[in-house]
Amino acid sequence: MKILKHVKYRIKDTTELERLINHINNTSSKVNGVEFKDIFFLKSKNEFVLEMMCVSEEKYLEWRDICPPPPGARDWYEVLLTKQEYFQKVNNPDILALKPEPTELAKTIFQETCSVENMEAKFGKTLSKKENDVKNFILTQSPILGRIPSINEINKSFSHFPLEKLVSILNKLDQFDVIHLDNDRTTIMAAYPFSGSETAYIVTLKREGYKKIYAMCAIDALGICFMFNCDVSIDSMCNHCGEKIYVEIKDNKIISLKPKNTLVWCDREYSCCAATSLCKNTNFFYSERHFAEWRNNNPNGKGNLLEITEAFYLGKLFFENRLKNK
Ligand SMILES: [Zn+2]
Repeated sequence: MKILKHVKYRIKDTTELERLINHINNTSSKVNGVEFKDIFFLKSKNEFVLEMMCVSEEKYLEWRDICPPPPGARDWYEVLLTKQEYFQKVNNPDILALKPEPTELAKTIFQETCSVENMEAKFGKTLSKKENDVKNFILTQSPILGRIPSINEINKSFSHFPLEKLVSILNKLDQFDVIHLDNDRTTIMAAYPFSGSETAYIVTLKREGYKKIYAMCAIDALGICFMFNCDVSIDSMCNHCGEKIYVEIKDNKIISLKPKNTLVWCDREYSCCAATSLCKNTNFFYSERHFAEWRNNNPNGKGNLLEITEAFYLGKLFFENRLKNK
């Protein structure tokens, strides 16, 4: 395939151009299956296009990692398929349609979680109207902000009741593990499925005005589409070796999974709250072999290795009703 990489950036002069071409030649020679062909400039625009021949989009992205655009410059790309590639794709679509799979194991995991966690409260069923309002505000604002709102920001939207009242509601939500406050009770560290700090699960919600946000764990990341009824993509990595993992969900089905054999280890060692126990250890693995190698070094800890579709089903059970009680 040919990839046209657009970069919105003005190259000052031929010295800068030469330096750039050298750098592109250098970096593309480090990735097998990526070849730099030529550079073109858009007429009367501060934008150039690199013509790259690539064996796959993954290889292109691998190269882009070592050759990012200049600071502040925006870049995007188009994939041009050859005749053969195009007709192969039409006849033999690479697009998956994996649905959540309600296996016995997944159902058992959910039931057992319900016996140690207060899921009724997490779904808002046993919360008061005000508590639900605060919970739903935090959850719906997070993807708009691209982070969990601060207590100050929540306070501004709930200015009709005093700060002490808000703080007591937040403490109650923390008790039920709907959210997780830090030790000095001033920051929301987690509002499941969202994390207040960087994690290995970057979720992109495909809705206008929504930003990328960190999820708490693999299952939380897989549950977000059901909570918002929104298409998402997940950028993550193998918990053993850091190799990239990519999941794309459309109409609540997994339509793209890279690699195809991605698995999820579901941790079952529950301590005080999910943020400090379950979530930390519920991860994606690149393959059964990567999991086996990791498990060899981490033999302790109860849990189950799940197929992606089982983990997807758990995500659905844990999150589809979080915003229902309004
Ligand atoms: Zn791995």
